[in-house]
This record gives sequence, structure tokens and C-alpha cells, in this order.
Amino acid sequence: MKWTQQNLEEAERYSAHNYHPLPVVLARGEGVYVWDVENRRYLDMLSAYSALNQGHRHPRIVQALRDQADRITLTSRAFHNDRMGPFLHMLCDLTGYERALPMNTGAEAVETAIKAARKWGYHHKGVHRDAEIIVFEGNFHGRTTTEISFSSEPLYREGFGPFTPGFRILPYGNVGAVAAAINERTVAVLVEPIQGEAGVVVPPEGFLRSLALRCKEHNVLLIADEIQTGLGRTGKLFCSEWEGVRPDIMIVGKALGGGVYPVSAILADHHIMSVFTPGTHGSTFGGNPLAAAVGMAALSVIVEENLAHHAHEIGSWFMGRLRSLHAPAVEQVRGRGLLIGVVLKKEAGPARPYCEALMHRGILVKETHERVIRFAPPLIIKHQQLEEVLPAIHEVLLQEHAVPAH
Ligand SMILES: *Cc1c(COP(=O)(O)O)cnc(C)c1O
Repeated sequence: MKWTQQNLEEAERYSAHNYHPLPVVLARGEGVYVWDVENRRYLDMLSAYSALNQGHRHPRIVQALRDQADRITLTSRAFHNDRMGPFLHMLCDLTGYERALPMNTGAEAVETAIKAARKWGYHHKGVHRDAEIIVFEGNFHGRTTTEISFSSEPLYREGFGPFTPGFRILPYGNVGAVAAAINERTVAVLVEPIQGEAGVVVPPEGFLRSLALRCKEHNVLLIADEIQTGLGRTGKLFCSEWEGVRPDIMIVGKALGGGVYPVSAILADHHIMSVFTPGTHGSTFGGNPLAAAVGMAALSVIVEENLAHHAHEIGSWFMGRLRSLHAPAVEQVRGRGLLIGVVLKKEAGPARPYCEALMHRGILVKETHERVIRFAPPLIIKHQQLEEVLPAIHEVLLQEHAVPAH
């Protein structure tokens, strides 16, 4: 316990307390497993919020990182580099979009999409001023001041104003509300096909399809934030595909960096992406050769290991198994592919003590929004590896963890 204690104390003493992590100190990872400083093994069922779809230290991705680190790592966009072109070419070929704009984190990519939509509105749609973007209650699009401006979560906003105007927040899953809210200043609808951070909230069947139709009718851009749901997580390359929808702007991040490096991007066709001209947008690190090399390896692994299809098969099976536990504490098991939320009943108490109990049994998960436990292991996970942890999950869900308030 000595090393654990020392690390926890250092974090407590020197870090900003903007997180409330589980008391486990990880030192090593491989595939679906991680080990703590005392060399105890855990199954990682969070995958860094879906940034580790390919698993920890996938050999091909790590090799790409190493090889590129030995050549050149950063050029800035003041010059070309020999990795960005092939990376964006691959990304466009795979996704069917004409152009890609590389950034680093998800939050920056969302910002980029917002800027693209606004400028498209002024230059192409003929909106004169005060462009509006429709978003949804429960959304999570990142932590910049603009992104929290349209969050419906008080904790994310309190004390951080003044906020960026130009957003309308509507109920998630309600297309009628969108149709009623669209006006001549509306340039875009920004949506998560499944709301991950809100607690793996799956909208009603047909929501995204109807939303896409409304957007088309009114010449409004549909922007899908697939930073968490994309790149195989829900059983297709993009979750939008489940409804046959091709968003006008696609936002990707997290697993695009293969769990080793931050890589994000927006994808769109030329008639939208052409709003960006030299000097209008940028990023010192965006499109750097290290990111591009890692991004290419990360995409290759998803495609060549057939991870989307695997996530669909194994996710459906696992969700069925979780449901068949019939644990009295559980209200609902929901999700798609390997993005699964176990919603606890009110009387079962908050999800946190369940996560702690799972941790003590070698399973790492994290509560999201009080009452939901998110299960989202790396997509490379095998049937057998999930089978092995089911008894422990069952045991924990059967126990009393409702703790009295103190
Ligand atoms: C994680 C996430 C973001 C923000 O990504 P960062 O890399 O943390 O900035 C944005 N949107 C969604 C849907 C996410 O899951």
C-alpha cells in the first residue's frame, strides 16, 4: 500500500481538484488490462472514455509512435509534413468525406465545427447576423467557455460566465421541438447520436433520421459529435450509420489517437470546409506528423481488426448478459455496441460505491451522472475476458451499497 498511499497523497497535495478519481494508481497497461503500483491487475472497462478503443499500447500504434518519433515530430502548419497528407487521405477515404481539418482534443474539434457552421451560415446560407445553433439538454461537447455556455449541467457552468450566446437548448430526442425552433438564423444542429456523459442516453428510434430530414428541409447543417460514439464504439464505424444518416459535419477525436496521443478532426465536404481560408483558423499542434502517424495506425487497427463489427457482436451479447442478471438494484441496461450504461434505481443509492466495489474485484468502471455505471471496455476485448468478470459484476450489483448521507 505504500506506493498507492504516496501517489494519492501527492495528487491530493499538488493537483487541482477538478476530478474525483477512484483511489487506484495505475502504472502499466496492455490490451484490456491495467496494473496498479502494487502490481494488481484490473480489467479496464472505461477505456479512457472511449479513447482506448484499440486497447492499451496496441503494438502497431506504439510502433508507429516510436518510428515517427525517430524521424520528425512537429513542423507546425507553417510548413508541410509528409505524414499529414496520407493521414487525412486515409481518414477521408474511410469516412467518405471530401475534407478533414485536424486538431488535437475533442473540445477543439467541436469549437472548429461551431466556427465552420457559423461562417457557412453567413457566407453560404445568407444569415445576416447572430447565427444560432441548436443543441440538446444533457449534451457534453467539451469544456471550453463556449462549450459550457450551452451545457445544461449547472456544475459545468457555475462561476464560469459570461457565456457565449447563439445557442438554443432543446429536449434530447424531440424532433418536433427542433422543427418549431428552427428560424432564419439557425445554421446548425449539434448532436451526440448517443449521449455518453449524460449517462449513455439512447434517443428514440428514428430521432437522428428525422433530425437529418428536418435539417435538409431547412438548409441547416447537421453536426454529429461522434468523439465518443465513433470509430467502432457502438458497432458501426459511426453511430449515425445505425440510422443511415450522413451528417454534414462529423467530429472525431478520442480513439483517433489510439490511446497514445491526442488527435481530433472535423470532416465535411468541400462546400462547407471551404469557409476556412489561410489565417482563419489554426492550431500549432494540429496535423503534426507524430499525430498523423499515430492516427493512421489507430484507423488501420480499427479497420483491419474489424473492431466495429466485433463491438456489435460482443456488445449485444454482453448487454444481454447484464440484463439477464436481473439485479434488483438495476433499473435499466441501455446502450449500443460496447457503450453500455447500467442505470441504478433511486433506492439503490449513487453509483460511486458500486464502482469502488468493482474496483476491489479488479474491474475499473466509473459512474456517470450519479446513477449510471458506464461499461465501455476496449473493443478488442474477448468473450472470455468478459465472461470472467460477470460473476463479480453480479455480486456487486446484488449487494447493498446504498450509503446513508453523512
Ligand atoms: C470527450 C468528449 C468531448 C471532449 O473531448 P476532449 O478531448 O476531452 O476535449 C466532446 N464531445 C464528446 C461527445 C465527448 O465524449
